Amino acid sequence: MLRPLTSHIREDRRPLSLKEYEKLGGYEAVRKVFKSMTPQAVQQLVKDSNLRGRGGAGFSTGLKWSFVPLDAPQPKYLICNADEMEPGTFKDRLLLESAPHQLIEGMILAAFAIQADTSYVFLRWAYKDAAKAIIHAIHEASDAGYLGDNILGTDFSLHMHLHTGVGRYICGEETALLNSLEGKRATPRSKPPFPQVSGLFGKPTIVNNVETLSCLPHIVNYGADWFQKLSRTGDAGTKIYGVSGKVKRPGLWELPMGVTLRELLEDYAGGMWDGHTFRGALPGGASTDFLVEQHLDVKMDYGSVAAAGSRLGTGTVIVLDDKTSVVGFVKNLIHFFAQESCGFCTPCREGLPWIEKILHALENERGQRGDLKILEQHTRLLGPGNTFCALAPGAMEPLQSALKYFRKDFEQYIAAYATPCRSGLMNR
Ligand code: NAD
Repeated sequence: MLRPLTSHIREDRRPLSLKEYEKLGGYEAVRKVFKSMTPQAVQQLVKDSNLRGRGGAGFSTGLKWSFVPLDAPQPKYLICNADEMEPGTFKDRLLLESAPHQLIEGMILAAFAIQADTSYVFLRWAYKDAAKAIIHAIHEASDAGYLGDNILGTDFSLHMHLHTGVGRYICGEETALLNSLEGKRATPRSKPPFPQVSGLFGKPTIVNNVETLSCLPHIVNYGADWFQKLSRTGDAGTKIYGVSGKVKRPGLWELPMGVTLRELLEDYAGGMWDGHTFRGALPGGASTDFLVEQHLDVKMDYGSVAAAGSRLGTGTVIVLDDKTSVVGFVKNLIHFFAQESCGFCTPCREGLPWIEKILHALENERGQRGDLKILEQHTRLLGPGNTFCALAPGAMEPLQSALKYFRKDFEQYIAAYATPCRSGLMNR
């Protein structure tokens, strides 16, 4: 099976009922694990499979699980992070709306591996159809004995709940998500301690992404080697890639990990609109660095994209074309991140709106000498290590790489208004 995550999704995208899912082998992985595997064996299998987190960071899933103290008293928690709000990213939505039982089966396997007795799907507020599909599937799975007390007659119990977020990007950051679930303001917590040891209500907690969890039934059914071999590179499995922007066929495709950016853009997304040419692309949502023409043959896996100076992130590519203003494009993203900052860390709260003001001024041909220096300083001030979470450092990635690859696009606006830099921004 070359497209394990999506090959059973119908044309009309209607979710499979429990019966339909079972007919295709659904919940066989759960039966197999309960019959013949220990939690440690499931953890080892997933470690061996080299499954890396599909939420964007690519952390080893099996390694993450191994930090949970298995013998800690209940409750322990498994959380599915379905708060998909990264700009340009809509891959989890497909799995949530159209393959809810695959996700639930994956969650049962993950919960068994860490011996969690309670699980939550933390869902993006706007994903209304997904909410309906997940609730319906949780009811079906509970009625069939796959969820609840003493699942399938074993001594393992798992209760699953759907929790919808409030439409804030920061809730997808795992520790802000935990605060939100606890009914607190969704500000990120400092790490360490990592949630694996002190998470929801201070208890051991694993937060995994929808696509990550959806891989698990297939890894259990077909094995770690099979999963590795699905990929063209060292990063195992398939990946649901996406493309948006001025391409002929924007969309999502499940492909072997390591397909090149060129194949993705030309063979799958159909190339650029007529009359538009490719200038660059953010490979994995908005909080990644631009790749440009010289990178078109880069393999879209974690290691190769990192070697090219960016991150695979969510694997959903946003394309920049020659008819779109680079400054406007980046300003739009910074506007989003400024709005979505939780306001807790000063560099993020104060820095992002300032950057937005400068970009707005540039876009309106009111740039001043020194503006690019200020922008560059900000990419460092808001960079890694200066904030609690990855929001501001992520927001700096498109900006810093746009200044690197498309500098003239910024400079042209300053040349048009070449007065010396003023100390404040009040006059803009
Ligand atoms: P991170 O690298 O800090 O952590 C990733 C995961 O690994 C977490 O679960 C964390 O607990 C674990 N981890 C990392 N280091 C660890 C350690 N030393 N010990 C134990 N566990 C460890 O990344 P993050 O801040 O959780 O996520 C940032 C990523 O999220 C970005 O790559 C971005 O692309 C992505 N993102 C995705 C969306 C979306 O909608 N899918 C939205 C926003 C951001």
